[in-house]
Amino acid sequence: MQVKILGCSGGIGGARRTMSLLVDDEIAIDAGSGLGDLALEQMARIDHVFLTHTHLDHTGFLPLLADAAAYLRQRPLEVHAQAQTIAALREHMLNGILWPDYSVKPSRENPYLRFHPLTVGQAVALGERRITALPALHAVPGVGYRIDSGAASFVYSGDTTLCPAFWEALNAIDNLACLMIEATFLNANRHVAAESGHMTAELLAQGLATLRRPVQLLIAHMESGREQESMAEVLAAAEKWQPRAVLQGETFVL
Ligand SMILES: [Zn+2]
Ligand SMILES: [Zn+2]
Repeated sequence: MQVKILGCSGGIGGARRTMSLLVDDEIAIDAGSGLGDLALEQMARIDHVFLTHTHLDHTGFLPLLADAAAYLRQRPLEVHAQAQTIAALREHMLNGILWPDYSVKPSRENPYLRFHPLTVGQAVALGERRITALPALHAVPGVGYRIDSGAASFVYSGDTTLCPAFWEALNAIDNLACLMIEATFLNANRHVAAESGHMTAELLAQGLATLRRPVQLLIAHMESGREQESMAEVLAAAEKWQPRAVLQGETFVL
């Protein structure tokens, strides 16, 4: 199994792309602006999209993906998300005003996309792979995902502040290999992090203190332009975990 990082920034600016991961060319996890760099043929190969939550840096390219390569696709795009996320996307995005409701167009029998609600803890099996929704605590309902090849698991936190249930879930993953977790705000902005449901380096250190498994620690979703400051704080707070910033374009083989 391959996990390619299409976008891992907390914002835009220059070469930065927002959150999207591509698993084996067929599965996208989140649909931020990183997705927009794929060739049309690559877009057409995506059969499943798993969304962590509604925010545009994670979903903004979903409506565009739905019809970008529709004529190359033989079947609907299968979109997995929490019921609350699906309801919000229907009401606010695919509402016939911002974008057509491609869950019923061009026809109800053969729409461009189909929604599949999932709940925290639920696993979706796709071939040998299993994608499991993990708990998160954000400003809107959200999940993280465990992407399990069968041999090893890559975990993506989505957007979350310190969430004890997330760290408990990590401790239960016997083949945990990589943890890609957000560290959006600097410690000085801890009040903003608390209000908006994001991490700081010091919150990350609190979570890591409860983790009982070794893991490759990858930092993502830092504020545009503050990546170096953020990484310096993460390194100071969690040095023994040897964290590093995850890189746009890099691929993990699991
Ligand atoms: Zn968010
Ligand atoms: Zn975000």
